[in-house]
Amino acid sequence: MKTSRPIRARIAPDALLHNYRLAKQHAPAASAWAVIKADAYGHGQWRALQTLRDEADGFALLETESALALREAGITQPILLLEGVFSARDARAVVESDLTSVVHCIDQLEILIAAVNREKPLKIYLKLNTGMNRLGFTAKQLPTVLETLRQFPQTEVTLMTHFAEADGERGIAWQMDRFKAMTGKWQGPVSLANSAAILRHPGAQADWVRPGIMLYGASPFADQSAEALGLQAVMTLHSQIIGIQTLAAGDRVGYGGTFTATRPMRIGIVACGYADGYPRHAPSGTPIVVMGRRTTTLGRVSMDMLACDITDIREAGIGAPVTLWGDALPADEVATAAGTIAYELFCALAARVPVEVVGS
Ligand SMILES: *Cc1c(COP(=O)(O)O)cnc(C)c1O
Repeated sequence: MKTSRPIRARIAPDALLHNYRLAKQHAPAASAWAVIKADAYGHGQWRALQTLRDEADGFALLETESALALREAGITQPILLLEGVFSARDARAVVESDLTSVVHCIDQLEILIAAVNREKPLKIYLKLNTGMNRLGFTAKQLPTVLETLRQFPQTEVTLMTHFAEADGERGIAWQMDRFKAMTGKWQGPVSLANSAAILRHPGAQADWVRPGIMLYGASPFADQSAEALGLQAVMTLHSQIIGIQTLAAGDRVGYGGTFTATRPMRIGIVACGYADGYPRHAPSGTPIVVMGRRTTTLGRVSMDMLACDITDIREAGIGAPVTLWGDALPADEVATAAGTIAYELFCALAARVPVEVVGS
């Protein structure tokens, strides 16, 4: 619904394309899954698909139903189910619609084997637990799993693992060592790298990389900006000032009165609150852009509004444009101020926020 209420999420398909190509440049010998789970990290699965359909080597997501919808929409590239199958129905869909499924435990393996059709390939990503301790087979389980799969010559197996600290100091070497120890004689395809590993660990590109957050133009690192990585913001959340208040020293702002003016101030009330997906935990001082100029939020974020300091932006009146995050203000900076990561900001974008696509 195109509302008169001025909040919008502007999506830039060119930036998404740029970021996907950048991932490919970092892993020139690998193929790249475009990770479009969680509705393309809040950017809209169908929008992302439209942009990448002639470009991406494959698409990775969670729900079998979404994968089937992609097939129905004519997507012919590989489609990867990142958490594998949840039911026998899922398993049949994997076989019948040529999906690729992660297999992270024996139960999933059994469900898939029950759906095997000798006429059709079964494409699986065997997930190994190399230290993240979330999903995956142990070193002890792997030989049995591979032995079981040898009875099904139509299976096409890729080995994968997921890095827990590719963005941090500990890095990936310790997990790479465990992976190599587990898979010593393995000659088949391998998939390892998320965005952080793609950007920082060139030795881990293997056969298929799995870029997610970098496609959407945010940095996976606390110590390196998206801009420094050459990434472009895909989503810009913007709105307008809909109210103005003049404060005297001692006046407080918003619920709980958590901000107190220590001098006369002019504040702008912005049509954007936590029900739009803006983080409620963003404290006073979170960066925000008004009429192209950087300022800060003040007081608690309400459901539908937040306040910001426009004392020094005198030309800002009702209707003044505000950027919450995006091309003029990295989502990473807002996320950091709010004690979270850009992934969460993007995924939390509320359904009530109208989306506009640049160039359409
Ligand atoms: C979500 C996900 C990714 C993408 O991670 P980013 O940090 O967003 O690049 C890669 N691999 C797996 C298994 C995932 O679930």
